[in-house]
Amino acid sequence: MKPVVVGVRAKGLGNYLARGQAIVKGYGLTSLRMVHALDQFIRILEQFHCNATCPVTASVVMRHSRDFERCAARGMEFAIHGYHHIDHSQLPYEQLVHDLYRAKMAFSAAGIPASGFRLPYLQFNGHLRRAAEETGLDYLSNQSIAWDVVPAGSVTPSALAAYERAIEFYGAWPSVESPSLPRMYGTLVEIPISLPDDEMLLDRLNDGGGGLAEQAWSRLLAETYEREELFTLMLHPERTARCALALSQLLSAAQSLDPPVWVARMNQISAWWRARSGSEVSIDDTAEGDLRIRWNGPEGLAILARNVEVRGQTRPWTQGYRRIESQPVVLSSRIRPFVGLPRSTPADWPALLRQLGYIVETSSESHAYSVYLDQLGPAPEITRSLLARIEEGNRPLVKLGRWPGDARSALAITGDIDALTIWDYGLRFLGH
Ligand SMILES: [Zn+2]
Repeated sequence: MKPVVVGVRAKGLGNYLARGQAIVKGYGLTSLRMVHALDQFIRILEQFHCNATCPVTASVVMRHSRDFERCAARGMEFAIHGYHHIDHSQLPYEQLVHDLYRAKMAFSAAGIPASGFRLPYLQFNGHLRRAAEETGLDYLSNQSIAWDVVPAGSVTPSALAAYERAIEFYGAWPSVESPSLPRMYGTLVEIPISLPDDEMLLDRLNDGGGGLAEQAWSRLLAETYEREELFTLMLHPERTARCALALSQLLSAAQSLDPPVWVARMNQISAWWRARSGSEVSIDDTAEGDLRIRWNGPEGLAILARNVEVRGQTRPWTQGYRRIESQPVVLSSRIRPFVGLPRSTPADWPALLRQLGYIVETSSESHAYSVYLDQLGPAPEITRSLLARIEEGNRPLVKLGRWPGDARSALAITGDIDALTIWDYGLRFLGH
């Protein structure tokens, strides 16, 4: 599909034209204005000692490689945002692989490392994961999750309609059903995006300095913190000036929390989730009827226990758990504090539950386990109801913590870059 058509479909014609005007103001004839915006973006991040990930279209990297090199030297991670800014969901498999491969080569020719990607318009098809694996990428970030964080009564019905059109166009999952957590698919990590983004708040909801972004992102931080999940902010660097206060307030709020929020780039989140998913936990039944547990995982991995007697040092953690301080450790529990699965469980479920941090055993003895999951569906999905089914009732459980060190939740600052100049922006319509 042509970029103009995709743009109109995404934004509605009125918003699309309004966006066109904003583009004319936002980009200049040279890259100067965008370089200034990127500099302001990085300076805010530097104030809080953190970095961001910016997916960039490869053809734009090729035209302005020195500008991107300078940002990379200041700690910014770049990811692939297509070779051209087109709708990749329309590409057949071979072309998709070709596009990703060409984009990856363009980044490496420019001396800018890129191990992940996010597609333009967040549009993808069923081939995407296989194509990304074949291209040798580490992570992708295309699935969005929509959070209900816009204060009620603050927007007009027509603005709300434009906002909801974006949620539909992006194919966002509602946060009431889907937790915001990374997930491994084969060798790839999928990092979900949190909506609303800057475009939805500033353009669609017409926030002319009303503090909507500040309020929405502050609520989104609180919601993800409470649930120990990931907040992947999407803020297009061309709107840095308009979002500077919201970004500073978000980072300041995140850094004032204790236990902390892990503010990380997407490549760090991907590396952590992969390493954590590869952790091994071994359990021995002792002669006295206790359980001896040891584990092998990345540095900073927390092992948590709830409602079991731990013969070793622990310290308080969140949601009624305690963190076990050393290993091996002996636990005394009247019931196995793990997740039991019947042998008939579809094959991909045990790996998914382990990714969620649970210790999984296959057994027909349902009464031996504090949590026994029978009748799981054929396709493994992470849903809030699944997590509630496992966590409810304060039953004895031992599991892996989600984030490194003492972090309770995670925050990734990301922002797509489609263009550095008005010429780049115009070339998008020709598919360049
Ligand atoms: Zn884009």
